[in-house]
Formats: sequence, structure tokens, C-alpha cells
Amino acid sequence: MLDAIIIGAGAAGIAAARRLHDSGRQVCVLEASPRIGGRVQTDLQWADFPVELGAEFIHGEKAVTRMLVMQAGLHLLPVQRGGKLLWGSPALPLTKIDRDERKLILGLLADYARLKTAPLPGDLSLKGYLMSRGWDQAAIQAADVLLAQTCCAPVDALSCEDLRREMLADHAGGLEHGEARILEGYSALFNWLSTGLDIRLNSPVQSIHRHQDGVMATVGTEAIVARTCIITISVAMLKANRIAFAPELSDEKLAAITALQMEPATKLIYKFKDRLWAPELTYMAHRGTAARWWTPAYGRNGADPVIACYITAGRAEKLDRMDETAALETGLADLAALLGLPRARLSAELAAARRVSWAEQPWIGGGYAYVPAGKAAARLALAAPEDGGLFFAGEATAHDTNPQTVHGAVETGWRAAKEAAAYIRARML
Ligand SMILES: Cc1cc2nc3c(=O)[nH]c(=O)nc-3n(C[C@H](O)[C@H](O)[C@H](O)COP(=O)(O)OP(=O)(O)OC[C@H]3O[C@@H](n4cnc5c(N)ncnc54)[C@H](O)[C@@H]3O)c2cc1C
Repeated sequence: MLDAIIIGAGAAGIAAARRLHDSGRQVCVLEASPRIGGRVQTDLQWADFPVELGAEFIHGEKAVTRMLVMQAGLHLLPVQRGGKLLWGSPALPLTKIDRDERKLILGLLADYARLKTAPLPGDLSLKGYLMSRGWDQAAIQAADVLLAQTCCAPVDALSCEDLRREMLADHAGGLEHGEARILEGYSALFNWLSTGLDIRLNSPVQSIHRHQDGVMATVGTEAIVARTCIITISVAMLKANRIAFAPELSDEKLAAITALQMEPATKLIYKFKDRLWAPELTYMAHRGTAARWWTPAYGRNGADPVIACYITAGRAEKLDRMDETAALETGLADLAALLGLPRARLSAELAAARRVSWAEQPWIGGGYAYVPAGKAAARLALAAPEDGGLFFAGEATAHDTNPQTVHGAVETGWRAAKEAAAYIRARML
């Protein structure tokens, strides 16, 4: 009998499978889609360098993914976004924008950092906390772009308790410091990490039955049996009941699945004939719909000039509702405003453009999960094992590290692998 069935070949599933396999356990990974990686997906064809359709950065000097990149013999491309923000339309360094606007941006960032230690009268939303610090609606709009968009959450819902938990638990070195891209592309890391594993693609799990002898997962008419099962699918997929559980999951688990939320996340990616921005540009943002932009080709001398907008939550939902041409037009208009260039010039220079909507991905269903105010215990409850050898991993379960990241997802995979191995040992199975 297998020691573990792992559901999902994303960062968490591959990390869990690697750990168990390398310690001599028999594991099999069931992946619904025709590829591995989940929310890690690199396109090697679209430009003359690897373009990230999903996760792009390694966040933090001590993120575990850095160590894996080294072990894999891959290479890091450092990029500094923190402290390099250009803001407004046109986007300018903070030293050159209007004095009041600069005060607002720096003040918001300082209040956000204060969350780590600030006394809170209960679990406020990020908006509630900022308003308690005296910020007005114009400031809240800026906070939505600068702080909540990163978390794939509406500013008036995001839990400050969960943000504080993450700040205190962070051991990667802070999300805005020590950032890097992977020269060969993020997918190269998971191709390497999955070498030699038994991964069955196009295998959507429909049900999981727990019984005395172990766990049985069904894929179509096939039944796979193991001593334990590790579930790594996204919160959106758990909410959609894509897997039927028998017996049903515990009330605590169901409450956590109900509490956690997953909003859309969308990238608009543009390739131009010539670079229309300064080579040192790494990050710019404004209050528009296509709010946050960065430069995937940064640090790759002579690479195709590609620029990407990454938006989440309400902004992404709005762009997802448009047809692709209209969404890309909206992005181009915002890009012209940010770069201070005529819209017609951008159209004339455009070589290719595409939209990547993660809410539309059938086995993902959004960006990454956030905790709404008042539900700060949800991550821990989602991560807790269920009776009968059922374990949970995936970015949303990262209660003791950074959720919403690749390195956080990897750590949850390692945690669940350890739990499953201990369960097997304790029962001498
Ligand atoms: C657009 C975008 C940008 C991001 N940028 C960054 C970034 O710059 N840096 C960073 O660190 N993180 C980033 N993230 C977050 C990061 O990608 C995720 O936190 C991480 O990849 C999640 O991994 P996971 O294993 O938890 O889940 P997933 O990657 O979702 O893996 C779960 C897998 O389960 C499969 N599955 C679902 N249902 C079933 C089923 N019934 N049967 C079998 N298989 C199933 C799915 O197909 C999927 O492959 C980004 C995410 C997005 C969407």
C-alpha cells in the first residue's frame, strides 16, 4: 500500500511528495490539470526570456525557495522593489511627488509597519485600523493599491490580526526585502524538485473515503488507496466542493473553509518593440484600475521589453468581466498615464499582449486566500489534521510562515509530510 496520496502538484504538493519520497516512503501525487506547478507557471515561448504567468518573485533573503534554487543549480536575479516605488500618473519617485501625497504614502507604510506591535481593540479590517489612525478615504484608496492588492484582498475586509500574525511569524526576511526572480523561470525549480516522483497528471480527485485501513481517493473509476492523504488544493476549490469527503470533514474544518476567502488575481502582460521606460524601473503604481506594474525583464540585459500589471480582488474582477481586448486596452490606457506617454505611442510600439486570469483557471479559482477580519483562527483550523490520516497543506494553511507565497506553500508541504510520517510511525503502519 502507498504511504501517502498527495492531492495537487503545486508547490505544497511537490514539496510534501519530495520529503516523503526521499525518506523512503511510497507516495503518489494526483494532479487534476495537464501540468505540474499550480500557481507557478512559466511561459518559455512568449518572449525571449521566461515570463511568469503566476508567481514571479522570491520574497525574502531567507525564503526556503532560495536554498532550493541553489540546490537545483539555478540562478537568482535580484530585484529591489521596496524603496523604489514610482507613484502617480505620471509615476514619479516619492521624492518628486506632491508633498501631501508623499506624506500620505510614507505615513500609510509606517502605520502598516506599526501593526506588528500596535494595540488593537479586537480584529479590525485594514481599512478599520487605518481609519482609527486618522486616515481619510483618499488614503484608504492608496492603501488598497499599496497594501491590500498585494494580499489579494479588499482593504475593508483584510484581517489585521492575520497580518500581524504573519509579520511576527515571518522568517523569510520580509516580503519587500531581498526579492529575486529565478533566471530560468519558477517552473524550472518545480521541474527539478519533482524529478523521479510518481505524479499522475489529468487526475482530478473526486472523492476521499477514510476507513479503518487507510484513505481511498477516486479519480473517475479508479480508486487509489494509501495510509494517509495530504490535500493541497486551493481554498476556492475546497469551497467549490470539488472533492466529496466520506465521512464529511469536521465542523471546525468546514468553518475554516467558509471563513477563508479567495479573490481573483489577474496579470496583463505587454511586450513592446522598444523599451518605453527607464532601465532601472522595478515597480510603479497609481490609483487607477490597472494599479500596479513591474518589469519582468529587469536585470536581463537586452531581453524583450516586457512590462506586467498585476491586480487582484475588485480590480481583477472588473478586468476579468471585460473581454480580453477591452481589458488590455484599459491596462494600456493606465500604462500611458503612468509612463506619461501618449496612448497612441504605446499602441504603435506594442508587439504582443495577453491577459492571465487565475480566477478562470479551472483547478485554481483565484489568486490566494486571505483571512477576513474576525476570522483570524481560520488558517490554523484549515491546517489541522482530520481523523483517519487526512492532512492539509497549501499556501492558505501557512499559519506559522508567509501564506500567499511559494516559499510558504513549500513549508506547509514539509509540515504536512512530517505530520503524515509521524502518523504512520505512531501506528506502525
Ligand atoms: C498571479 C499570481 C502571482 C503570484 N505571485 C507570487 C510571487 O511573486 N511570489 C510568491 O512567493 N508567491 C506568489 N503567488 C502565490 C503562489 O503562487 C502560491 O502561494 C503558491 O504557488 C500556492 O501553491 P499551493 O501548492 O498551495 O497551491 P496550487 O499551486 O494551487 O496547487 C494546488 C494544485 O492542486 C491541483 N488540484 C486542484 N483540485 C484538484 C483535484 N480535485 N484533484 C487533483 N488536483 C487538484 C491544482 O491543479 C494545483 O496544481 C502568486 C500567485 C498568483 C496567482
